[in-house]
Amino acid sequence: MRALTVAPGQANSARLEDVPEPSPEKGTTLVRTLAVGVCGTDIEIVAGLYGRGPPGRERLILGHESLGRVEAAPPGSGLSPGDLVVGIVRHPDPVPCSSCAVGEWDLCRNGLYTEHGIKERDGFCAERFRIEPAFAVRVDPALGPLGVLLEPACVLAKAWDHLERIGHRAHWEPRRVLVTGAGPIGLLAALMGVERGLEVHVYDRLTTGPKPVLVRDLGGVYHGGSLEDVNLGSDEPDIVIECTGASPVIFGVLGRTAPGGVVCLAGISSGEHKLVVDVAQLNRTIVLENDAIFGSVNANRRHYETAAGALAKADPQWLRRLISRRVPLERWAEALTRQPDDVKVVIDISN
Ligand code: BGC
Repeated sequence: MRALTVAPGQANSARLEDVPEPSPEKGTTLVRTLAVGVCGTDIEIVAGLYGRGPPGRERLILGHESLGRVEAAPPGSGLSPGDLVVGIVRHPDPVPCSSCAVGEWDLCRNGLYTEHGIKERDGFCAERFRIEPAFAVRVDPALGPLGVLLEPACVLAKAWDHLERIGHRAHWEPRRVLVTGAGPIGLLAALMGVERGLEVHVYDRLTTGPKPVLVRDLGGVYHGGSLEDVNLGSDEPDIVIECTGASPVIFGVLGRTAPGGVVCLAGISSGEHKLVVDVAQLNRTIVLENDAIFGSVNANRRHYETAAGALAKADPQWLRRLISRRVPLERWAEALTRQPDDVKVVIDISN
């Protein structure tokens, strides 16, 4: 079968090649891949900056945002041929640590977890993959091809879950959320804010293209240009979800919440970026206002299920517009090359 593979650690090593069919020990459920979403993590892996191959192998099958159709599943697994499914990206560490032991592999404590298409486990950008039913999440057939948005959405379902748990450390009545970054992650964060009835503001440096319109059509307020110029009126946000991973934006949102605010850092920075910052001033703001800042990555099964509910409630026309380009597998290189108006790019594998 055809698969898009890379040699992690080597820049520009991606290629489409013939690989053996997935062997039965990879999982009892056989899935025909329909589509795979591309995200910043994939671009970093292809650039040789992130990722690790499976033990004893140089090359890794890329792709962690999947959508597929079950071809064969064991009786009693809860899955049947024809079901639309998404593969869970992270698998628990083998020890297992206390978090992985209870299914909270997103909070793995020893770092020995594996991730499809990212860390030591083949990804989904192949014509077929095998998976255990416990790591396959069924997608509502009504969502159809939009099911490929489930993986990015589950990352935000987890971020919102933890935000709310932290918020409830005391009386909490959030009203306003600021999301930084209007890529797919930021837009899905904004969608979940709107679904919670919050006033949603989205900041991105771009001032043109599809992002401002997508935010406005969601009922949010879009702020382009420089973060310093963002004027939220007299009220600071109660919640910030930082999705850019860009150092000046990260520093720009810390301490910028209303008292008792919660900042979730959900963007993964790459490389190094040193800034000279006034830590004393920042500390005074955070302590005197009881602010909370936390990081959030990945998701466990519960978050995939919550995310499926959030996508099912969303306007399908709006979700469809998040997928700005669909590229067939044989033209994979185009999918991995960013274009100015990209939101989410998807590689189509079969119909
Ligand atoms: C994926 C997460 C993963 C993270 C770190 C993200 O792109 O969506 O599932 O945990 O990268 O590897």
